[in-house]
Amino acid sequence: MKNLILATLLLASNAFAHEEHDWRQDYMAYLSVQYDLPMSYEKTTKTQFATKRLDMAFFKQKLITLSSTTDRRTTDNLDIARQFLKSEYEKIGFEVRFENFGGGSNFVAEKKGATSPEKVLILSSHIDSVRCKGANDNGTGTIGLLTVAQELAKNNYAYTVRVVGFDKEETGLVGSDAYVASLQSKANIIGNINFEMMGFNSRKDGSFHVIDCQKATSVALTNEIRSSIANLGLPLTIVKACTDRSDHASFWRHDLPAVVISENFFGGDADPCYHAKCDIVDERLDYGYMGNILEAVLDASEHLLK
Ligand SMILES: [Zn+2]
Repeated sequence: MKNLILATLLLASNAFAHEEHDWRQDYMAYLSVQYDLPMSYEKTTKTQFATKRLDMAFFKQKLITLSSTTDRRTTDNLDIARQFLKSEYEKIGFEVRFENFGGGSNFVAEKKGATSPEKVLILSSHIDSVRCKGANDNGTGTIGLLTVAQELAKNNYAYTVRVVGFDKEETGLVGSDAYVASLQSKANIIGNINFEMMGFNSRKDGSFHVIDCQKATSVALTNEIRSSIANLGLPLTIVKACTDRSDHASFWRHDLPAVVISENFFGGDADPCYHAKCDIVDERLDYGYMGNILEAVLDASEHLLK
C-alpha cells in the first residue's frame, strides 16, 4: 500500500515536472482577448500577400522538409531538425552553434552587428513538437523565422541579430529557461520576438496576436510591429491576449522585453490540428496570411536593428 502511494506520488510529481505546454488550458488568456480594430473590420475572401518581399515559396519548401519527421520530441528527430537548420543558416552566412543544457540543446544562429555588435535582438521559436509532425506548431514559427533571416542576411545593421531555436518548450519552457538564465550581459538584449504557430486563418480576417501582457518592458516591441503594419499597409489586425505559455515568458522572468506572435488562437480562430496528428503541411495553412505577419516582423526587426 505504502509503495503504491509512493509510486502514485512519484508519477504525479513526474507528470508535473514534464507538464505539457498547452495554450488551450490558459483560460485567462481567452478571457483577456481584445481587438485592436473593431470586429467590423472588412473581411477579405482570400488573403493577399501584400508586399511580396519575402520568399514564401522558399517558406513552403523548407516547411515541408522540417515537417517530414513524425515527432520532434525524440533526440534523434530534434537532431535532424537542428542539423537542417544549421545547414540553412550557414548558407545565408549566419554563425551557428548549439548550446547544451541539462537534457537538451538550443540552436543558435547569429549575424553580427556592423557598429554595435554587443547589442542583440533575439528572434526565437521552439523547434520541438507534441506527438505529431508539428507543421504549424511550430514549423511555421521556425521556418517563418528562417524566411525573415534570409532577408536580414542581405543587409548590414548596427546591432546583432540572433536566432534561437528552443528545445523542450512543450515540456515546460525548459530550453528557454536555461538559455535566458545563462545570458551573460542581459543589459545588451534589445528584446525578444518569439515566433509561434501562425498558419491558421479560417476567418480570413488577418487577425493575429502580438502578446506583451501590457508589460512596461515589452509594449515598445508591439508598437514597432503595429507601426510596421500601418506603414506597409498590411491587412492585419492585432488581437490582444495575455499568456505566459511560450518561451517569451522566460525573458519576462528576467525583466527583458519580449513578445510572442501567433495566429488568433485565443480569439477563437485556433488551428483544429493543434497538438494533433493532423498538424501536417496541407491546405489549411494560409501562406498569404503568414507572409503578411512575417513582413511586419521583418520590418519591425529592421527598425530595432537600425
Ligand atoms: Zn507552440
